Amino acid sequence: MTLSSRTVRIDAFGGPENLKLVELPVGEPGPGEIRIRHHAVGLNFIDVYQRTGLYPNALPLALGMEGAGVVEAVGEGVGHLAVGDRAAYASMPPGSYCERRVMPARCVVRLPEAIPFETGAAMMLKGLTVQYLLRQTQPQGGLQAGDAILFHAAAGGVGLIACQWARAMGLQLIATAGSDAKCQLALEHGASHAINYRTEDFVARVKAITSGRGVKAVYDSVGADTFMRSLDCLQPFGLLASYGNASGKVSPVDIGLLAAKGSLYVTRPTLFTHIATLERTQAMADDLFSMVTTGAVSVRIDQRYPLDQVAQAHRDLEARATTGCSVLLP
Ligand code: NDP
Repeated sequence: MTLSSRTVRIDAFGGPENLKLVELPVGEPGPGEIRIRHHAVGLNFIDVYQRTGLYPNALPLALGMEGAGVVEAVGEGVGHLAVGDRAAYASMPPGSYCERRVMPARCVVRLPEAIPFETGAAMMLKGLTVQYLLRQTQPQGGLQAGDAILFHAAAGGVGLIACQWARAMGLQLIATAGSDAKCQLALEHGASHAINYRTEDFVARVKAITSGRGVKAVYDSVGADTFMRSLDCLQPFGLLASYGNASGKVSPVDIGLLAAKGSLYVTRPTLFTHIATLERTQAMADDLFSMVTTGAVSVRIDQRYPLDQVAQAHRDLEARATTGCSVLLP
């Protein structure tokens, strides 16, 4: 019997109207692969970049990079997963907006019993991102309890996990967000201060909060609208991790500016370098699972959509109308 899967894909780059639900056959996993039946699928801003073509991929393209479900079949050479296991992943290549898929096993880890499927689907890409940002993308000398950092878009999926993770590390996370209600949410999740960057000058506020010193690190996923001003929030030797472009791509920068502003460091990291091997993925996932199962981080799912409402999910995300995480239910 040939299995099939309702799958969301695009045939051309463009708006949410290009997202099409199609029925595709799904085969058996080859060597190093598994087949997973999804219980829930995570929605991420990177899916928007892939839909519009900002991050280029070959067409037609099945979208989605995060999911959780049950392993249905295991290919040759896969030792860490068995049929029937609860599992979750953040993956490259994309293709999680579907009922079931065949995919590389090295992206997939077992999901602890204590973590529901929806939570697993919502948190893998976002939570592993926070893991590598706060634990592995640190300024010279590292981050210590009491240090101040600035985290933009702090009421979003990645953002609310970061607020809680930073609190658990004893950091003072200064949040920015696009409304007073979102600022309140960031504060409730562990931010020490919150700035509405649509109505307030965040550079001036960061300077005031830090008594003129600035922060040791800025984590900036907003991109074009904030990049240059993020540099102005840093102490000498500070680090700007520019890890996203929700407002558009960052323009080329004159590297001499980094000297003028105090020997600054800038990095443009991606999760996919950090989870390039199963060993790295498992170690980072173990850290994330421990943060979640001990209650240090709770994963807030504020939006749920049936798979056939995926276009609305994209519209809401791009309109800045969401908070926390969103999941699609196949
Ligand atoms: P979010 O839930 O954070 O949604 C994006 C948020 O960005 C919006 O809610 C909005 O919050 C803010 N934003 C600011 N300007 C704009 C704009 N012009 N248009 C739309 N949104 C805007 O998404 P995710 O949690 O999925 O991802 C957060 C960011 O992290 C994304 O930029 C994503 O690409 C990046 N990312 C990068 C990774 C990497 O490894 N490099 C991995 C994972 C995510 P507000 O209204 O508060 O401003």
